[in-house]
Amino acid sequence: MKGRKDIMNYLKRAWAEVHLDAIAENYRRYKELVGDTEIMCVVKADCYGHCDRAIVPFLENELSVKKFAVSNIEEARRLRDSGVTGDILILGYTPPEAAHRLCELDIIQAVTELSYAKELCQNIPEGKKLKVHVAVDTGMTRIGLHNDSIDGIISDMLKILSLKGLSVDGMFTHLSVADSGDAADIEYTKKQIGKLMAVKEKLAECGKAVPCVHYLNSAAGLYHYGESAPKSALARLGIILYGLKPNASLPVPMELAPALTLKARVAQVKEIKAGECVSYGRTFTAGRDMKLATIAIGYADGYSRLLSGKGEVLINGRRAKITGRICMDQLMCDVTGIDVKANDVATLIGRDGNEAITADELASLYGTIGYEVVCGISKRVPRVIIRDNVEIDVET
Ligand SMILES: *Cc1c(COP(=O)(O)O)cnc(C)c1O
Repeated sequence: MKGRKDIMNYLKRAWAEVHLDAIAENYRRYKELVGDTEIMCVVKADCYGHCDRAIVPFLENELSVKKFAVSNIEEARRLRDSGVTGDILILGYTPPEAAHRLCELDIIQAVTELSYAKELCQNIPEGKKLKVHVAVDTGMTRIGLHNDSIDGIISDMLKILSLKGLSVDGMFTHLSVADSGDAADIEYTKKQIGKLMAVKEKLAECGKAVPCVHYLNSAAGLYHYGESAPKSALARLGIILYGLKPNASLPVPMELAPALTLKARVAQVKEIKAGECVSYGRTFTAGRDMKLATIAIGYADGYSRLLSGKGEVLINGRRAKITGRICMDQLMCDVTGIDVKANDVATLIGRDGNEAITADELASLYGTIGYEVVCGISKRVPRVIIRDNVEIDVET
């Protein structure tokens, strides 16, 4: 039988390294920033592509995190299966037929509107209560109680509070431009927060105060949460936990440690002559004699084909430009003047010597955001989990 180390090496064609220490650092620094506000770690989409099975137990057991947020019931169930005992809030939609499963798994569900709350109730066993947080739409226009008037929202809220099958444990809103430095956007964010607070206060006046009212996401904690801001019961910490910026073009008032590195092996190195064409479609023709490396990663690994001819990879501390189209499983790059041989390691996201490529850099090259780059790294890429510089696990 192969040892663990052999297995890890055997898997290293294209792989992602996930650093738990970086996640712990980001968590601690953000915690300092939001003071005594409790942190709910947002671990949806497999921890933004980083590997929830390894990260969430670490957060719970080593950092004493007690609250988590996911996007759907499958993600919630997987966390329970990996032994997570803390609160789990589903931020997105669950078909109401699954309400009984939510009760069994002890999951908190976001409520989108009154009719949905009623449907959930129809699927809750007699005598059981489903915990919910009611979403209030204050301007994201995605999910939540949606009404121009505070009274309209209160009216729905009171009806939801009267439903026997539900335990309304919280209420939240989601901010749409908390990561913007634009003056009008900052005003918009204040209005969103103000609307949630107005609902909170009015409910209290009616004698129906809801516990746990929250509005912070990563960006709001950075840019909208000082002495003068209303208290949020929770900070829903997502992107910052993984060491990426909410908005690549705005400075972040804390140090970030990117937790993920994407690497792949050099499959072949060869000299080509001026005039030779590289890859599908012959979009690249060598203008001079050059040295070319083929890297064992492609768009099926989640390295976007939109980076063809644009992206760079790091090899032995140097930048090498991608030449021609990125293929499903391989890509080629110009390694002229770089000391490289087959089986060397190329870094697609991360640091190599003095050079670093961030998910945000790649995102800017094809018109997306760092969030999408890391979430897009496919299941084919094993996640090698690293703690204290030791590879402790591999998730395939
Ligand atoms: C994804 C999500 C978050 C986390 O957002 P970040 O920008 O990653 O911090 C918080 N709240 C809700 C409702 C979300 O959907």
